[in-house]
Amino acid sequence: TSFAHFGFDESLMKAIRKMEYTQPTPIQSQAVPVALGGRDVIGIAKTGSGKTAAFLWPMLVHIMDQPELRPGDGPIGLVLAPTRELSQQIYSEAKRFGKVYNIHVVCCYGGGSKWEQSKALEAGAEIVVATPGRMIDMIKMKATNLLRVTYLVMDEADKMFNMGFEPQVRSICDHVRPDRQTLLFSATFKKRVERLARDVLTDPVRIVQ
Ligand code: AMP
Repeated sequence: TSFAHFGFDESLMKAIRKMEYTQPTPIQSQAVPVALGGRDVIGIAKTGSGKTAAFLWPMLVHIMDQPELRPGDGPIGLVLAPTRELSQQIYSEAKRFGKVYNIHVVCCYGGGSKWEQSKALEAGAEIVVATPGRMIDMIKMKATNLLRVTYLVMDEADKMFNMGFEPQVRSICDHVRPDRQTLLFSATFKKRVERLARDVLTDPVRIVQ
């Protein structure tokens, strides 16, 4: 497939061309049309596969379909990731493509300043990228809320579980409206991740890199 198949508008295509991506990666070719169609996705893919853009591009299209953000609204797109490093990588990619639409992105991770992160959330963002524990801290501090989240991504789910984040991940899923779209990415697909997928996804399309 080529990028033209995705039906992205000219401004997003321009940002993709600027990155000198010549064609979608295999995971992008498979996952982007499914996600644009509103379906839930299980993506078995490793870092380096282009999985980040595979969930971010449809997230941007989803956000542009929603009404304008009002003061006090929480994010529309929420990405959970296991580590500070990964959350920052996703954040920079989300900002790079999100700026095309003036979409605001905030990154919250354990070890960073809670005060700074809460101020950034209070200023408003359509996308939040967060580690699970810190996301819960931010909700408890009332810096943000999950009321408006309709596009939820769990990245490197196996790693989040290995790091002990299963209760936090499940708690966040339980507090996001059930009519959301959910995407789950994992390098491996063993029992615990399979159980999570069964519990939090609706009729998912499974894509193997
Ligand atoms: P990821 O697996 O999402 O961490 O992406 C790995 C790297 O591939 C990142 O540096 C991306 O900028 C890059 N990348 C993503 N999509 C493409 C593409 N279609 N063509 C070339 N590089 C890409």
